[in-house]
Amino acid sequence: MISVKEALKIVAENAFIPNISEIPLLKSLGKILAENIVADRDFPPFDRVAMDGIAINQKAESFQIEATQYAGETQKSLQNSENCMEVMTGAVLPLGCDTVIRYEDVDIQEVDGVKIAKITIPLNEISEGQNIHRKGIDRKAGDVLLQKGLKISPPEIAVMASVGKATVKVEMPPRVAVISTGDELVEITENPLPYQIRMSNSYLLSAALEMVGVRANLFHLTDDKALLFSKLKEILSNHDVILLSGGVSAGKKDFVPEILTDLGVKKLFHKVAQKPGKPFWFGKNDEGKTVFALPGNPVSTFLCFCKYFLERKNEVVVLDKDVFFKPDLTYFVPVKTYFQDGKLMATPFEGSGSADFANLTDCDGFVELPAENQVFKKGEVFEFVRFRF
Ligand code: AMP
Ligand code: MG
Repeated sequence: MISVKEALKIVAENAFIPNISEIPLLKSLGKILAENIVADRDFPPFDRVAMDGIAINQKAESFQIEATQYAGETQKSLQNSENCMEVMTGAVLPLGCDTVIRYEDVDIQEVDGVKIAKITIPLNEISEGQNIHRKGIDRKAGDVLLQKGLKISPPEIAVMASVGKATVKVEMPPRVAVISTGDELVEITENPLPYQIRMSNSYLLSAALEMVGVRANLFHLTDDKALLFSKLKEILSNHDVILLSGGVSAGKKDFVPEILTDLGVKKLFHKVAQKPGKPFWFGKNDEGKTVFALPGNPVSTFLCFCKYFLERKNEVVVLDKDVFFKPDLTYFVPVKTYFQDGKLMATPFEGSGSADFANLTDCDGFVELPAENQVFKKGEVFEFVRFRF
């Protein structure tokens, strides 16, 4: 049996390698960027007027207005350095000007057809170069603005739009199949007989996948070797990543590992020193397709999915109650989190075990209590596997 750390490493090293595709910019939101984005010109591309007002060349009490420089016009020149120009935000700074004074600090009056701008604030409050967004101050032409591998959010969309990327290369999400197994499971539209239960794991996983932008195909297979073999074969042929739940433990009808091996999916590990989710099986075939065969108990299924499938930020929480756990296993306890004095606190909700998925509705994630210890004290800091975002 391997440790959680080793299992995580194996999963990371064997992740499915996504296809890259060039898609329209707005379709790329939430996807992983697969190319570097480089500035085609300076940011901003010219000395940009940052306030509506007047542009001047030297400090004085009043100026005659020569002309107006609007946004979207070619650059004008100040003819007489004792005059000023009216300028609008987004305009090119007129040639011969070095400072912009906002309208709020100017009084403009017309005398005999001549427009005069009078400064209404003390001259020492005006600093040379103010209200000008200098060419290239944010980024220079040729700078890498976005590194490949990042997740695209609205600000990245804006940056790509500004350098004219109408289409962008991204990693395409894998084709994912979610398969529940078990003779006791019935569809959620059915009335279960007393010894049956409605399947919930495939809905759980499917919803969790949707949260990270992946739409999965759902299947249910009964615990029948021949059926598992033929259906899994077919599903493997047209998906990249397969998430199974159930059928990987020590039960007499837990056929999943055997069938996967028969289908050429090489076992990379089976069983992890953790609770819940110990029977987790992970493998990969020659085409690089990965199979996460998760234990069927819903809390186990979900924990394994969150811990091993989702790419996670490193987060920690402060335990707000003591927890005791003897076995030599990493113990993942559902927790409810809240902030206190700027720290993320976690109240453990152990529930009644790995089948108690109703307990998860009171929680936000799992706290990860390391295998080496048995006593976990209030106030100690541990890793956090978040499932509520
Ligand atoms: P297994 O891993 O197949 O031994 O299943 C362990 C427990 O999880 C059993 O009580 C199953 O009934 C339950 N279980 C398995 N799959 C599902 C599912 N899709 N939805 C809800 N419970 C499940
Ligand atoms: Mg089963």
